[in-house]
Amino acid sequence: MSTLRFHAIKESLNHKPIHIDENERRSVIFGSNVFNEATMRQYLTKEAYKSVMDANQFGTKIDRIVADHISTGMKEWAISKGATHYTHWFQPLTGATAEKHDAFFETIGNGLAIEKFGGSQLVQQEPDASSFPNGGIRNTFEARGYTAWDPTSPAFIYGTTLCIPTVFVAYTGEALDYKTPLLRALQAVDSAAVDVCKYFDKNVKKVNASLGWEQEYFLIDSALANSRPDIVLTGRTLLGHSPAKGQQLDDHYFGSIPSRALAYMRDLETECMLLGIPVKTRHNEVAPNQFELAPIYDEANLAVDHNSLLMDVMDKIADRHNFKVLFHEKPFAGVNGSGKHNNWSLGTDTGVNLLGPGKTPMSNLQFLTFFINTIKAVNDNEELLRAAIASASNDHRLGANEAPPAIISVFIGEQLTNVLNELENVTSGKLSPEEKTDLKLNVVGKIPDVLLDNTDRNRTSPFAFTGNKFEFRAVGSKSNCANAMTVLNSIVAKQLIDFKKEVDTLVEKKDMKKDDAIFNILREYIKKSKNILFEGNGYGDEWHKEAKKRGLSNNKTTPEALKAKVSKKALSLFEELGVMNKVESEARYEIEMEEYVLRIQIEGRVLGDIARNHIVPTAVKYQNILIKNVKGLKEIYGADFKKYAKEQLILIQEISEHIESINSNVTKLINERKKANTVDDISKKALDYCNKVKPVFDDIRYHCDKLELLVDDELWPLTKYRELLFTR
Ligand code: ADP
Ligand code: MG
Repeated sequence: MSTLRFHAIKESLNHKPIHIDENERRSVIFGSNVFNEATMRQYLTKEAYKSVMDANQFGTKIDRIVADHISTGMKEWAISKGATHYTHWFQPLTGATAEKHDAFFETIGNGLAIEKFGGSQLVQQEPDASSFPNGGIRNTFEARGYTAWDPTSPAFIYGTTLCIPTVFVAYTGEALDYKTPLLRALQAVDSAAVDVCKYFDKNVKKVNASLGWEQEYFLIDSALANSRPDIVLTGRTLLGHSPAKGQQLDDHYFGSIPSRALAYMRDLETECMLLGIPVKTRHNEVAPNQFELAPIYDEANLAVDHNSLLMDVMDKIADRHNFKVLFHEKPFAGVNGSGKHNNWSLGTDTGVNLLGPGKTPMSNLQFLTFFINTIKAVNDNEELLRAAIASASNDHRLGANEAPPAIISVFIGEQLTNVLNELENVTSGKLSPEEKTDLKLNVVGKIPDVLLDNTDRNRTSPFAFTGNKFEFRAVGSKSNCANAMTVLNSIVAKQLIDFKKEVDTLVEKKDMKKDDAIFNILREYIKKSKNILFEGNGYGDEWHKEAKKRGLSNNKTTPEALKAKVSKKALSLFEELGVMNKVESEARYEIEMEEYVLRIQIEGRVLGDIARNHIVPTAVKYQNILIKNVKGLKEIYGADFKKYAKEQLILIQEISEHIESINSNVTKLINERKKANTVDDISKKALDYCNKVKPVFDDIRYHCDKLELLVDDELWPLTKYRELLFTR
């Protein structure tokens, strides 16, 4: 065994669970490191408190003098909790979160110092941001970027730093982060949904989009993970033969959580409690060493912040427990990958879940309105929704038989399918009083009972209705959910705006009653959205054929999928809603294409290096042992030696063949990469990386994995799948 592999395994076996002392009840510590409502009441003047609450609820601006009061209160609170620094915390388009810590401490001359944090430091900062991706925005406008406080997401203390959630924008106003377009999309869906709610309840003033994510991840012993250059540099294994035992037995799923992992989870959950992340469930996932964690849902902006923060916290706590967390969507070939289901709904300030069926026919009509409009939005924008979840790593998962396919479809269950079928048959134009009564009592009125026993859930659907929310299941485990949430809320906002226009036109021009008009438009929508509804097995080949017939897109790779982000339709949708202007949309497209290229480029380099510098030399070493053995046999048996060296001779030849294939493919990989690098146009370059560079990975891997089966285990340099996945 190579020394590296030997020491890694030895070290990993020494790692024991850390004892976690939990003597405080979680409900007591919940949110204690968050500058939340209760804390604000304590530390802020009445005026300052009200100002933050209004900004939070109605988006009103915070006065500069009031901001000074707020910062003073925030500083007092933070210092009382042991904080020494503050930072504007934001989500640049790199995917990770960014922070630059400044001390409260300031000198005031004469050897004296104070703790200082004023309104201006709270409200706006200018990070040296030239190295964050901006897709050419800053080159075009020669603008500097700044971060600005987002009062809708509360400040929190992490370690000894006060973190202030902020947006990150260019001086010319273009968004340079994930949060800005998300906030704009949430505002768009709020105002569009409130307008539609007014048909049913005049008292509704605000609609919040909610998000409940479910984070899947792998926990790998850090010593083992660090012994694999591919995991260290790319977050996944680029080679490795499947272990003899995989997940065939399904013995990990929902099984008892291994004690080391459990200690990690408890530690993590305590940290989440302090940070106000309401984690609720934890369990094993399908693959060995794969787990899931999910919070109680929250307002979407806050939930997105919580998820970004959580991923960072998970990394840090893992260090403490000698683990490495893998967020990659497919860290191990042939083993289940990870996703991040995004459960989504809309809720009013009057306490109604707009995707939850109600108790009266009227509230159910409201439910159906939002339900059908969402389906229509997905139907009309399926390609854009697919683009929102595209990444080099998620490509491994979508389309493999474990996660939803790259084809977007909506699952609603049998009962709601029947309801839609009945609604579709409603006569067009004005309804007679009898028809209306019948409809309300027998179709719309029946929904609640019906849904209670609607338990069948189609796990193969990328976008499923699950009783009182939709679940967008195709989102990648590694991605920032802001991307998916921005698109989903935008397309629903646009759809609701169109719906209202159409209903109002019928009421005004055709002299229809409001509910007649609603029934009429919904009926049309059902007819138009048929293509997107699919109740069957999303993994099957049949569905791929059927989807093609229906004209649904099936963009299997990121470069293909991302194009939808800059289609005329998408550009004008985002522009019209004020979510992103053309420059912002195009910049994001460029950044994501660029990122795709970089990821594949790095993987290619790492794979080439491992294959040539680790695998081939090892194979040669083993082959030399075999050659020595054959020579020895020849010495003993003379001309007869072949009888005794048959297997060795075959092995020697096989090894040579694999070495030759690896070397020629690595050369091919390097040449394809060189060629792709000369392409200037980013769309074309990404396609070349996808179609010419990436396929060579499989050939190299195939031969390396074959060698793993042939070469003496003692010599093999890389920690094997069985060791990575099953060492405890
Ligand atoms: P699954 O079977 O998909 O794991 P769970 O019941 O474990 O489903 O998870 C459902 C998730 O949906 C939870 O994280 C929960 O917080 C979230 N959720 C429930 N209601 C809503 C809602 N109205 N809006 C958004 N998310 C919700
Ligand atoms: Mg789920």
